[in-house]
Amino acid sequence: MSEFKVRASSWGSLFDCSMRWEGEHMLGIRKPAGLRAQLGTAIHAGTAAFDSGRLAGAPITLDEAAGVFVDTLRNPEHDVDYSQDDLTVNEAEKIGLVLGVKYCTEIAPKMDYLSVEMPLEPLVIDCGNGIFVKLTGTMDRARVVRSAGGKVINDLKTGSRVIAKGAVVIQGRSAQLGTYQIMSEQTDGEETVGAQITGLQTTSTAAVGVSRVFDAKRVMLGTEDKPGLIQFAAVMFKTGLFPPNPQSQLCSPKYCARWATCMYHE
Ligand code: SF4
Repeated sequence: MSEFKVRASSWGSLFDCSMRWEGEHMLGIRKPAGLRAQLGTAIHAGTAAFDSGRLAGAPITLDEAAGVFVDTLRNPEHDVDYSQDDLTVNEAEKIGLVLGVKYCTEIAPKMDYLSVEMPLEPLVIDCGNGIFVKLTGTMDRARVVRSAGGKVINDLKTGSRVIAKGAVVIQGRSAQLGTYQIMSEQTDGEETVGAQITGLQTTSTAAVGVSRVFDAKRVMLGTEDKPGLIQFAAVMFKTGLFPPNPQSQLCSPKYCARWATCMYHE
């Protein structure tokens, strides 16, 4: 019997290039992230501090949230490859400060948050043949929201492509959010009614928005006649075959630590 422990927050990227995911999360083949990724980390830190303060009844000011953002951006906990992105730290700071203010004044006041980055009870997936996957961790970068219809999982996404044609992009988000829906239900016993994305666009336009609520859990669990992503994942873990995806947007020497040894991108 074998059990693989996997961080729930990494689950979504398993379905992008599975071979890259295996390299990063099972074999420890990693490379430093770029400044845009660090900008995302810093925006999350600032907004999470703002929301957590309000939830705990000890609100912090916009300036204090901005301080958390700047501190995280300029003092990364991990190595950052500053040559990876066409962006300076000052430019990143400017974009992040605008987005932080927009988030705290336009989005957060409209949300009834129940938790920020909720700790999750582990979820064990039986893949067959004595192989188990144990998903653990917190609902990284996501919130639980009380909406008129019920409990919704809201994931805060940053990036240059999170908003397109004026709408927050939800394509390809169900693996991550479906996992959070299932695990949050298991943790607090309350059904979710769906998931949604809050998008903060890390470009000079600094657009922000919230998507419609969609059923991410269905994509993970499948339907009567269609297998869910959990079933596809179980086959990968059972067989040990994690397929490459050279069409992935992250298939490049910039983003993939397996590039030098992977023949599939050619
Ligand atoms: S080089 Fe491309 S196909 Fe190969 S592991 Fe990396 S992302 Fe996947």
